[in-house]
Amino acid sequence: MADRDGQIWYDGKLVPWRDATTHVLTHSLHYGLAVFEGVRAYKTEIGTAIFRLEEHTKRLFNSAKIYLMDIPFTQQQLMDAQREVVRVNKLESCYLRPLAFYGSEKMGVSPIGAKVHVAIAAWPWGAYLGEEGLTKGIRVKTSSHARHHVNVTMARAKVSSTYANSILANLEATQHGYDEGLLLDTDGFVAEGAGENIYIVKDGKIFTPELTTALDGITWRSVQALASDLGIPVEKTRLTRDDIYICDEAFFTGTAAEVTPIRELDRRVIGSGSRGPVTEKIQKAFFDVVNGRNPKYHHWLAKV
Ligand code: PMP
Repeated sequence: MADRDGQIWYDGKLVPWRDATTHVLTHSLHYGLAVFEGVRAYKTEIGTAIFRLEEHTKRLFNSAKIYLMDIPFTQQQLMDAQREVVRVNKLESCYLRPLAFYGSEKMGVSPIGAKVHVAIAAWPWGAYLGEEGLTKGIRVKTSSHARHHVNVTMARAKVSSTYANSILANLEATQHGYDEGLLLDTDGFVAEGAGENIYIVKDGKIFTPELTTALDGITWRSVQALASDLGIPVEKTRLTRDDIYICDEAFFTGTAAEVTPIRELDRRVIGSGSRGPVTEKIQKAFFDVVNGRNPKYHHWLAKV
């Protein structure tokens, strides 16, 4: 990732991609506290636009607030910066990664005295779980690792340390030949994927876990608006892994994963074993919105 052309916004300036480096004594690298976002820009019918830029930027600042981190820029500055990064790199569609982290000004657990730095990179990134996954669905494995209890790592924050837990779940799944890991909470109820929220469909109704140990996903919220438009009821409830084994359809949502059907969990084939009709409707509605084909949601698209 480091050796490529392009420009990265770094503490208020655009720097050549290869020069956007940090010292090995960077505080966040040692103690795991950095907050970040994953954002996508799409080539839409009204020009290249960033999907729900304001909501992503707000969540970045909320993540920082939860961890008592002061980002030395305003939300407006970081929204402008994200647009600028897409423009200067001449990207028609891309993934954006804004990151706020503590620098190398000091060592020791307390970050007091370390400067907060902000970087924003953008690059083309196709379907996170594979193009085929979007149409045929993916195979998922329940992780033997639980998602953090809410009194361990607060799930409203998108913080780098959470992803050590995600990495354990993802590696466990992929090293056993699956595509992605599913995490349960410490009581055994379904939380979320390693980098996605989860929905299931049963008897024409959509269910998803209440937000306790899962990230408050922007795609997750968007899907609820689209389901309501389609007249499909959505209920937030506690789900167990066997609720998923016997549901009609299941799918993941996320900025990177978009709307990805799940065709198998722990070797139990879900529904017909491919993308189900409700998932397909939601997926189509989602791609219509992000690609600017639904004027009702043009306000979710920030033109660059
Ligand atoms: N949960 C986790 C752990 C994630 O990393 C993500 C991706 N950011 C999501 C859920 C989905 O969130 P969003 O739709 O805002 O990308």
